[in-house]
Amino acid sequence: RVRVRFAPSPTGPLHIGGVRTALYNYLFARQHGGDMILRIEDTDSNRFVPGAEAYIIEALEWLGIKFDEGVGYGGQYGPYRQSERRDVYRVYVRQLLDAGRAYIAFDTPEELEAKRAEVDNFQYDATTRGMMRNSLTMPADEVERLIADGTQYVVRFLVEPNIDVEVDDLIRGRVVINSSILDDKVLYKSADDLPTYHLANIVDDHLMEVSHVIRGEEWLPSAPLHVLLYRAFGWEDTMPRFSHLALLLKPEGNGKLSKRDGDRLGFPVFPLEWKDPKTGDVSRGYRESGYLPEAVVNFLALLGWNPGNDQDVMCMDELIRLFDIEKCSKAGAKFDYEKGKWFNHQYIQHADNEILAELFRPVLREHGVEAADEKVVRVIALVKERVNFVRELWDQGGFFFVAPTEYDEKTAKKRWKEDSATQLGELSSLLETLDVSFVAIEVEPIVKNWIEQGGYHLGNLMNVTRLALVGESKGPHIFDIMEVLGRDETVRRIRRAVE
Ligand code: GLU
Repeated sequence: RVRVRFAPSPTGPLHIGGVRTALYNYLFARQHGGDMILRIEDTDSNRFVPGAEAYIIEALEWLGIKFDEGVGYGGQYGPYRQSERRDVYRVYVRQLLDAGRAYIAFDTPEELEAKRAEVDNFQYDATTRGMMRNSLTMPADEVERLIADGTQYVVRFLVEPNIDVEVDDLIRGRVVINSSILDDKVLYKSADDLPTYHLANIVDDHLMEVSHVIRGEEWLPSAPLHVLLYRAFGWEDTMPRFSHLALLLKPEGNGKLSKRDGDRLGFPVFPLEWKDPKTGDVSRGYRESGYLPEAVVNFLALLGWNPGNDQDVMCMDELIRLFDIEKCSKAGAKFDYEKGKWFNHQYIQHADNEILAELFRPVLREHGVEAADEKVVRVIALVKERVNFVRELWDQGGFFFVAPTEYDEKTAKKRWKEDSATQLGELSSLLETLDVSFVAIEVEPIVKNWIEQGGYHLGNLMNVTRLALVGESKGPHIFDIMEVLGRDETVRRIRRAVE
């Protein structure tokens, strides 16, 4: 059975690259009818940030990335928060110690620091462990005495040197790394009574019966260590298959995408707005910036994978059907945020106007506007083809809700003629007395006929009418504007303009 996990550490808001990792896991799980697990890897108490876990859950829910099991979802393999699994890890640490695959080390941070200063490129491994303070170099009774006295220690993995470790990666193929470059990684710290990421990760993936590990490229260097850990436990036969996803790169392609790039170029790198609990700094989110979750999903899915044809607009179900982990790119994907805007534009065109209206409500409220749903929906239908973001609906359609208080001077200068006022006056009277329902298809032919009869200049009259209704020379079809404004408001605005 396919079982994948998304295993974030709650060290801050989920970065957009992490969202892509979650998404690829989700697509893979769904297309194989498998399970998607949310595991919170919070064994590093120093880096724990309050609120991060709730943020991660909310962000993925917003994007429609659903879990079958895990923190907040329950399941048979819990608990899913690593800080709640101390008892589980203790057993496995003991197992490695008893089997001679790990050892206890007492070196203090100061001692390690001193060694690093003394030995070039110091690495705690087969060549150096003999000169350190650990259970390999100290008599057993002394080790016991120190532990009994409450001396803090760590447990280190005993990495055998000079073994070619093979990592079979679904994206990268076979990657071979020699164990001599690995250090004797710390697996457990007595000070926290908690394992480190590496041990907890392997034990949990094993116990949670994870079949595929899909994660960021930054974990590729750890993969050989993980393979050695599976071997040390005798779990090689059920070892998950690995896929390491290439990094998201700066839009210019020169290096890893960072929060600073977002600040520099004006795009969010987090799914939701995040307020740093320490500094109070607020970082922008895709949600608050007016992106639709479907657009973000579609945009992210194509950063590092494509369906092999030109198709780019794909809903979640289509992505699930077409996604192919083995076709993911080995090279980093440039973060083309302009393309993200393009996707948002596409999805706004396809989105239900009722849903857009709900998203537009807060923007209207910011401008002190309370309008009937029906009107908001009609305005959206008229202007949405001109916007990339919900917020821009105000720039394009705000005049429907608030009458112009001034008129664009340039347009007025160019369009306002001697007889404009008289003509607008006549038009307002005509509209006031029209004996038809006030809809574009009824009003338009009558007005046009009247213009023709009067020998007026159609373009010019329409331009000044627009100026009266909108305040400038923008907006949708003039008769559509009249229809949505309604007879009274249309007449009122035209009369105000000639006053
Ligand atoms: N906790 C790790 C992270 O924050 C998970 C890495 C993995 O998926 O193995 O990225």
